[in-house]
Amino acid sequence: MTTQFVYSFSEGSKELKDLLGGKGANLAEMMRIGIPVPPGFTITTEACKEFLALGVAPLELEIQITKALRELEDEMQKRLGDKRDPLLVSVRSGAKFSMPGMMETILNVGLNDESVQGLIKQTKNPRFAWDAYRRLIQMYGKTVLGIEGQKFAAELDKAKKDQGVVDDHQLSVESLSKLVETFKNIVFQESGKNFPQDPREQMDQSMRAVFNSWNTDRAKLYRRRERIADDLGTAVNIGTMVFGNMGEDSGTGVCFTRDPATGELGAYGDYLQNAQGEDVVSGIRNTLSLEDLGRLHPEVFSELRGIMYNLETHYRDLCDIEFTIERGKLWILQTRVGKRTASAAFRIAMQLVDEHIITMDEALVRVNGGQLAQLMFPQFDMRNAPKAITKGMAASPGAAVGKAVFDSETATTWAENGERVILLRRETNPDDLGGMIAAVGILTSRGGKTSHAAVVARGMGKVAVCGAEELEVNENEKFAKVGSLRINEGDYISIDGSTGEVFNVEIPVEPSTIVRYLTDGIADASEGKEDGTRELIRSVDRLLRHADRRRKLRVRANADTDLDAAVARKFGAEGIGLCRTEHMFLGERRVLIERVILAKNNEHREEALAALLPLQREDFFNIFKEMDGHTTTIRLLDPPLHEFLPNLADLKVKSALARERNQVVEADERLLYEVEKMYESNPMLGLRGVRLGLVSPGLYELQVRAIAEAMADRIASGANPKVEIMIPLVGSHMELKITRLAAEEVIQEVARERKIELPIEIGTMIELPRAALTANRIGLVADFFSFGTNDLTQTTWGFSRDDVEAEFFAKYLELGVFTISPFETIDQSGVGELLIIATERGKSVNPNLHFGVCGEHGGDPESIHFFHKVGLDYVSCSPFRVPIARLEAGRAAVS
Ligand code: PEP
Ligand code: MG
Repeated sequence: MTTQFVYSFSEGSKELKDLLGGKGANLAEMMRIGIPVPPGFTITTEACKEFLALGVAPLELEIQITKALRELEDEMQKRLGDKRDPLLVSVRSGAKFSMPGMMETILNVGLNDESVQGLIKQTKNPRFAWDAYRRLIQMYGKTVLGIEGQKFAAELDKAKKDQGVVDDHQLSVESLSKLVETFKNIVFQESGKNFPQDPREQMDQSMRAVFNSWNTDRAKLYRRRERIADDLGTAVNIGTMVFGNMGEDSGTGVCFTRDPATGELGAYGDYLQNAQGEDVVSGIRNTLSLEDLGRLHPEVFSELRGIMYNLETHYRDLCDIEFTIERGKLWILQTRVGKRTASAAFRIAMQLVDEHIITMDEALVRVNGGQLAQLMFPQFDMRNAPKAITKGMAASPGAAVGKAVFDSETATTWAENGERVILLRRETNPDDLGGMIAAVGILTSRGGKTSHAAVVARGMGKVAVCGAEELEVNENEKFAKVGSLRINEGDYISIDGSTGEVFNVEIPVEPSTIVRYLTDGIADASEGKEDGTRELIRSVDRLLRHADRRRKLRVRANADTDLDAAVARKFGAEGIGLCRTEHMFLGERRVLIERVILAKNNEHREEALAALLPLQREDFFNIFKEMDGHTTTIRLLDPPLHEFLPNLADLKVKSALARERNQVVEADERLLYEVEKMYESNPMLGLRGVRLGLVSPGLYELQVRAIAEAMADRIASGANPKVEIMIPLVGSHMELKITRLAAEEVIQEVARERKIELPIEIGTMIELPRAALTANRIGLVADFFSFGTNDLTQTTWGFSRDDVEAEFFAKYLELGVFTISPFETIDQSGVGELLIIATERGKSVNPNLHFGVCGEHGGDPESIHFFHKVGLDYVSCSPFRVPIARLEAGRAAVS
């Protein structure tokens, strides 16, 4: 059986996107439901794949194209490139997922020195015909023959200058026919070949160029960024040309069935009279609104409104539509479910529910956690904002305004003096860290989403725009330029890390209304706001509550203080899944841990531990208070030693200086000796977690006592604390067994002292491959498993989690080793597999075990869907991501 490579528009449907691409499938669908689409056919993505693999078009494809073309010619009663009355076609790309501007389009295929005369005769419009011909040579030259576009553009400008006009459409017939000759000469000079006069050759070569455009660097880069698979290929759509540039009764436009920027109800769009499609997009002339179209052509406008309504009801979503009016006749050239901003997504989803077009479950699938995250960042008040001066990659979301600085030192000094600064660099490296910390935002002209600047900024929660290529940064002379526009040190700039836009003025920043809603409720957040914002708040509220009703995963927060716990509760956390106790000893309290670790003898150690007890008890008491009635999982100490011991290099310098001056201090020397003894070249794999607990007598027992006493105090005051103790970095069931027995003894001791019951579950983190693989033994001594996917990723891949992302991940992404950092989205086939193994093996020996995740992946949308599939009980993430996790867990349940 031969493969069908070519489908007439009257054959396909919107379900065939894999084969016909998005554009082709939607053209077929429109034709199917009776919308006026210029006839044509689609060459499939399968044909593209074969062509790219073989380097030539398969013979069968040539045959099928010939047949399809013949049928099209019969239907239109015209022949391609006929010298009396030519059929002209457009050749357009169309992949499964839209890749705007990435691939090629060639219009007016079929025109040559003879058929241009036929077109003149038929249209009685020589200006139009010559203009169409020069456009074809220009597009063909650029796209098929790879000639620099500027070569043609320069001649076009020259023709306008010679004739003393500004707009293309003012060029005379003579100028245009002369331009055609000039363009043909350019083609010959640049490619060594004549512009092909054979219409079929034009069409075939155009198709090949579209196929090849799948593999241009920019298309590959786009796919990598958007995580679109490389092996999908593009379809090619060959459609009968209709012309919007045939006079004042013609035109072309783009419209949306609702406003994609705000979600406002009502049609919205741009129209250009007497123009071809690319004129609208290129912005060479100012467009008219749809209302203007209504005034100019009331009948066409009402037909268009009818089609918009039909398409929206048919696709049950916001549609974006391209149309052309040729001498008063309306044609629809393309439709697709339209892209929209985050707020539009929430509003439109709920509007469609209220209009009974979709269900609540469907509405939930129409929005996502990434969009909710965007709404939770502070945003620019764009009401009076000017246009962006340039755009880069949206590398780390949020809005930041400050004075431009070009080096780390200035950033630091200015910030110390209370200035808000934005650090502008060509790219950043670890030496810029000080400046990055001091700045409110980072802007670079080079590098992508995984460049040093992007990775570090995201890690710090700082706004960043990276790879703004039009920006020339002169770091030595401390200025930057975008074209002729100059930014000097101290000039205000504003950067939007959610859109990548850069402005050379100070734009006011507004706190997020959605965060206000989450913390203070609908009424407070809506007060004084305009209708659109109120509708947005209501939509987010309804969708979040629906997600809560649907989700199977519970959502807890990673919180180390009562303040974090309070925020987490407001954001909807149903408990704390990870309370990192070592974080309670950063800053001034660090020395307390140091004293325990470096204690000279038992007496010193006990003294040091005794000092910790009341502090820890109070810490826990306050957290249990915030979380009353909800589980708090306290993780016993897991400090990488280097974070808690004095810096070895500093101690060595101090000792050397003291020796030089003959002022050796014995205590300093002893400290140096102890620290040197404990020095680890790989602290993340060293004396951490349960290992420290086992070799530091009394340390974990002290923490367990503080937890038990805090719980007892809460119970005594009539409260309802729910507590779990979690042991980190366990690799062997023996580590857990020994630790557990000791902990239980302490809990019982406190229970006896206080004469109450203290039902505390004891579980472990699964964050080492060995723990996952031996889960059938560990499961016997644990009440729960919480996957520490940060360490599990580190130890499964052997990547140091603190170092590698900035080191070589950009290259790995470029090479396609992975499409996203495994520290950001769970690596399902490696780390994920360990997670499945551990869950199954754990359950097989202990059916009561419960399972959660508390690594960073707990707040990552894609990972959450995976955790739902695996059947975990909860995810735990930073408080700010709790609403996102609630939404995604709901989406996973209804998807
Ligand atoms: C983990 O490893 O995933 C985890 C949550 O623990 P930490 O990040 O504190 O090592
Ligand atoms: Mg860990």
